[in-house]
Amino acid sequence: MSRNPRYDVLFQPVRIGPKTARNRFFQVPHASGMTNAAPHVRAAFRAMKAEGGWGVVSTGACSIHPSSDDSPFPFASLWDEADIRSHAVMTEAVHAHGALAAVELWHGGAAAVNRTTRYAPLSPSGVPWMATHVGFMSSARPKVMDAADIREFIRWHAEAAVRAEQAGFDILYVYAGMGYLPYQFLLSDYNRRTDGYGGSVRNRVRLVEELIDATREATHGRCAVALRLSMQELRARPSEVAESEGHEVVSLLKDAPDLFDVKMDYSATDCAASRYTPEGSHEPVVDFVKRCTDRPVVGVGRFTSPDTMVSMVKRGVLDLIGGARPSIADPFLPAKIDDGREDEIRECIGCNLCISSWHDGVWVRCTQNPTAGEEWRRGWHPEIVRRDAEGEVLVVGGGPAGLEAALTLGRRGWRVALAEAARDFGGRLKFESRLPGLSAWHRVVDYRLGQLRRMENVSLYPESRLSAADVAAFGAGHVVVATGATWQPVLCNPNELPGQALDAPRVYTPDDLAAGVEIEGPVAVFDYDNYYMGSAVAEALAAQGKQVTYITTAGTAAAWGFMTNEQPLVHASFAAKGIGYRTLEVVTGFDGETLRLAQIFSGEARWLPARSLMIVGLRQGGSALYEALTGEGGPQRVHLTGDANAPGAIAHAVYQGHKTARELGLSAVAVGRDAPFVPRDFLPEAAQ
Ligand code: ADP
Ligand code: SF4
Repeated sequence: MSRNPRYDVLFQPVRIGPKTARNRFFQVPHASGMTNAAPHVRAAFRAMKAEGGWGVVSTGACSIHPSSDDSPFPFASLWDEADIRSHAVMTEAVHAHGALAAVELWHGGAAAVNRTTRYAPLSPSGVPWMATHVGFMSSARPKVMDAADIREFIRWHAEAAVRAEQAGFDILYVYAGMGYLPYQFLLSDYNRRTDGYGGSVRNRVRLVEELIDATREATHGRCAVALRLSMQELRARPSEVAESEGHEVVSLLKDAPDLFDVKMDYSATDCAASRYTPEGSHEPVVDFVKRCTDRPVVGVGRFTSPDTMVSMVKRGVLDLIGGARPSIADPFLPAKIDDGREDEIRECIGCNLCISSWHDGVWVRCTQNPTAGEEWRRGWHPEIVRRDAEGEVLVVGGGPAGLEAALTLGRRGWRVALAEAARDFGGRLKFESRLPGLSAWHRVVDYRLGQLRRMENVSLYPESRLSAADVAAFGAGHVVVATGATWQPVLCNPNELPGQALDAPRVYTPDDLAAGVEIEGPVAVFDYDNYYMGSAVAEALAAQGKQVTYITTAGTAAAWGFMTNEQPLVHASFAAKGIGYRTLEVVTGFDGETLRLAQIFSGEARWLPARSLMIVGLRQGGSALYEALTGEGGPQRVHLTGDANAPGAIAHAVYQGHKTARELGLSAVAVGRDAPFVPRDFLPEAAQ
């Protein structure tokens, strides 16, 4: 197929200083959890996007010096010769597919508390960054940089730029965003200096300007220099000479970098979950930048619609379409638009499981793209599956796991029959995507069903609840059981260990709400699952006009939602929707009228009137069908997958479905094990 001419503008080359990007698709720097410990994993992950048509492919934050150490969060480094070799694997792979390679040179300043390297954190004025945020918390307070420290910092940046060029990077970032060191100089809250680097905006901009100049000089103008700026706070501050401090900063720097990369300030707004934030949410903050500079501007907004992208360019908001999450969910997004296959884009759902990977300190995971992070280790390609099979497989259950299994089995060449008990495919997502804010999650179903319906070797059987006898009669050589999990109506003890089922009237689980059971208010929602379901169910019940009190064992609502950037917005949403919440409590009993609670640490008893209790705690997998089929033996090979195998987030179900399908029928599976490059200076004598 050929490209829709409407999208031609997206494929125009863009000059970025001394370099030219082949099109407007720019994979901006984003965390991948892939440190220098896994150079081949990282290279394959980034190169996949170059193969998929992105014009520029960037690293995530790359520390320029040991005084910028983000541990325990994963980060890359460009400290020495071994690091150069590590990154060169990526730049070579990216160049092989015709894309430019960019590196986000990074110094965290007060935000990097150097837990491993034990350098004193650096800062303009000794102000700590987000001192009380769990995960980032530290009792170390930063040192105030003196004039010599500033000179050193600029030198480190220049030296890292030299190493970056040696590693093969085309675009070198100066990163003045998200609370990191150059940004701390820009913002008056952090910068209380009285020297030439503090006070007026002109002075606060000086360091960034000097970093840009030093980076360009160090590489003799051969590399492009990009400036990444967080704009949310600066734009919100009045300026005496411009519309805002943000306008003033960009105007002062308008000719300094070869490219502006503009974004928000906080993870929860910058990488906002779709649950509370739509596509294009950065625009109101960054829309002015192009009016202040002639340099090209890139920005993000979880763009998956080519029409929105075109509108961004045509309306003069952006020159380059930045993508982080959309490039993870579909590395081939540009190629699909180029081929006129935009209906095949695996659109990001905005669930932020990917960002949770960084918080977890592991390689990136993606709900929509189970191959993310597995390109090298398992050799999984997001678009190409080796056609190596020809038998028949019956997949039972059409939720995320069954759909993904059927799709991947179909691509391998199996003749696939997918049976689903309900009229519609989608499993848990039929309900979950109807919860407030979660409609984009249905894209997991839409993409897979769209693909499956085109495949001649796949037959879809809705309204087909299969028994073991039905399965046996069908006679397929392999059976994949993906029948899902169920929420359990059980309370837990203060250690959050589930107990017995609660025998009381009007005790419900999310499965009851999914089944359309009418729930009488006032309702207490007891959440010891602590991801999205408890708060989403509370919001759904509030939307029905019920009085809702949310109770959690954790210290905040949707506590694990911290990992996906949802948690702060859940609290805001509860306030807006009048949902009361209680923390650090367990429900110890319910008689249909009154809830008995206990403070989780002291055990102090408390009471709350409620007509209904919704328990969002434990999900149980397992499958009677699987038990029956395996019990009988016979010629069929039966594989349990998805939530039925081990209940988890949708990402886990999709991944399990994919893995089951990739490995089905194979006797051996190769799994690669990556290793870092060792600095030559430090090789043990015997190895030299
Ligand atoms: P997962 O997340 O693992 O895909 P889901 O709960 O989303 O699990 O989906 C499981 C699907 O399996 C549901 O749509 C359910 O209707 C279907 N299902 C369960 N038992 C059977 C069965 N015996 N025959 C056909 N479909 C079934
Ligand atoms: Fe998008 Fe979710 Fe994948 Fe992240 S994990 S890229 S938010 S679909």
